[in-house]
Amino acid sequence: MSVSDLTPLEFDQKHLWHPYTNVVKPGPTFVVKESEGMYITLDDGTRLIDAMSSWWCMMHGHRNPAITHAIHRQLDTLPHVMFGGLTHDPAIDLGRKLLEVSPDSLTRIFYCDSGSVSVEVAMKMAVQYQHAMGFVGRSQFATIRSGYHGDTWKAMSVCDPDTGMHHLFQGALSVQHFVSRPPIRINEDWTDDPARNGLAELRQVLEASADKIAGFILEPVVQGTGGMYFYHPEFLNQARALCDELGILLIFDEIATGFGRTGELFATGFCNVEPDILCLGKGLTGGHISFATTMTNDRVAEGVGGGNPGIFMHGPTYMANPLACAAAKASLDLLTGQDWKGTVGAVAEQMKAELAPARSYENVADVRVLGAIGVIEMKHRVSADEAHARAREMGVFLRPFGTNVYTMPPFITTPDQLSEITAGMLRLAREL
Ligand SMILES: *Cc1c(COP(=O)(O)O)cnc(C)c1O
Repeated sequence: MSVSDLTPLEFDQKHLWHPYTNVVKPGPTFVVKESEGMYITLDDGTRLIDAMSSWWCMMHGHRNPAITHAIHRQLDTLPHVMFGGLTHDPAIDLGRKLLEVSPDSLTRIFYCDSGSVSVEVAMKMAVQYQHAMGFVGRSQFATIRSGYHGDTWKAMSVCDPDTGMHHLFQGALSVQHFVSRPPIRINEDWTDDPARNGLAELRQVLEASADKIAGFILEPVVQGTGGMYFYHPEFLNQARALCDELGILLIFDEIATGFGRTGELFATGFCNVEPDILCLGKGLTGGHISFATTMTNDRVAEGVGGGNPGIFMHGPTYMANPLACAAAKASLDLLTGQDWKGTVGAVAEQMKAELAPARSYENVADVRVLGAIGVIEMKHRVSADEAHARAREMGVFLRPFGTNVYTMPPFITTPDQLSEITAGMLRLAREL
């Protein structure tokens, strides 16, 4: 059979790789024809509420008019131009907006293509900074277990060593230093006992290899892909002090948590400290086009710049793509132009109330909500395809991973739509 005889879906199954799939034994996929607001529409006309915000990025809903208009306008004037030796208003306007909303000390912005790239950039920045300071041995990283930082080579090396891809690429990934995830959860009382709050172990690991470690990278407060785990922000304050003591840079990967998802604009809203380097992505363009940033403070920027060669060795082809900058600026304007805190708070309250019954289900280990993140943790792993099939019958798109049935709804959800999502989650928790 020739390629032209294949139906669209047959073509997809035979030729297109999907995330984390076997291309010769593909799982089910569904053709999406269009999207709007809370909904994606399949080719058979089925409309599904996108409870995943399309992997956590579509925070103002699909095909948001303010964002699509911004992209259209930009498309008609300057779709792209190289950023080497040239600049443009979309990059500058977005930069001003980012400085306005992000933690005060982060003053220098590097625009990247995707979240994983922003992590690569952050790690490179940390190594170049340490080299510039004369610490040429400092090229490794410390991180906490159960983390996720992306799928590119260096980012992969700081993902969880057990659930990540380490066993597959054993020997090929650089040496990194892992500590347990912070043991005290966000809703528990902090204890200053270092044996119980995770800091004894952190100190031990960082001190043992301080002359080799360039930076300590972590997802602040919320570990996403690694288990939807919410931990106590005091850990961040203490980690900051320890990093300062040992000359290690602190890197926050807020690709999943940034822009209000947790109920704070950034994790710095939960703690008293700021990172040296911050990675942002996912929701940055409201999910409309791939984009990310790595931001840093004057100390790191001046350190890198004062070293030899001084230049920072990174510069992607599509750096500061004007369409992406325009989308990001429009998305940030939408966010800050509304009572986002009230919106996310209302979503959180409703999810807490509506997911609570799952606590008494036999197969449920835990139910937790933080901001617009709602999680039912099961006692066993659930099949994403099976879950999707059942949720689809209820008009909701849910795609659990591991043991977690979860939602990160777009902020524009109505209470009724949110109730449909939580009803779908309760059904999965009962039946799977
Ligand atoms: C999704 C994610 C990444 C990777 O971003 P991509 O855009 O998929 O490359 C990195 N870190 C965290 C915390 C993420 O959630």
